Amino acid sequence: MDKEKIEQAVRLFLEGIGENVDREGLVDTPRRISNMCEEIFAGLEDDASKYLSVTFEAQNNEMIIEKDINFYSMCEHHILPFYGKAHVAYIPNGKVVGISKLARTVDVFAKRPQIQEQMTAQIADAIMEELGAKGAMVMIEAKHLCMSMRGIKKQDAQTVTYVTRGEFTSNVDLQDKFFNLVK
Ligand code: ZN
Repeated sequence: MDKEKIEQAVRLFLEGIGENVDREGLVDTPRRISNMCEEIFAGLEDDASKYLSVTFEAQNNEMIIEKDINFYSMCEHHILPFYGKAHVAYIPNGKVVGISKLARTVDVFAKRPQIQEQMTAQIADAIMEELGAKGAMVMIEAKHLCMSMRGIKKQDAQTVTYVTRGEFTSNVDLQDKFFNLVK
């Protein structure tokens, strides 16, 4: 990550909105933001395969579901936060991962400039590819600041997205099971 470039850009941006970049409250802001970017965009330099490649032999191949995984992301259209919960399920094909690795996978894709629909699909695809799972289903419920603090100003609107892969796509009963479990 080019922190110098970020700091230059923040100074330009502040000038652009008509601020005095040398006043006390703003003088360290470019540095604060460049440090923050390392954290909130850490997913750009991270890879889900790092977390999903350490697997264990599955004892059974029933659906595994990790729900209510909190995340924070940044909408790539406005660079404003969207945040909420991700629910991740998969059907193993002989291999499982540690539960915390599913949350790590959510973070890899959340900590990037994102759109919710794409993030939902990327999590499911990573699980299918890295684990060779028989199926995967991911649902994300999120609030978008670009919907609530600007534009149409809908405070409580939530955006819900989900994707199905493999057995989940063809089996509506499995999808219903998933929806019941995350309720
Ligand atoms: Zn937006």
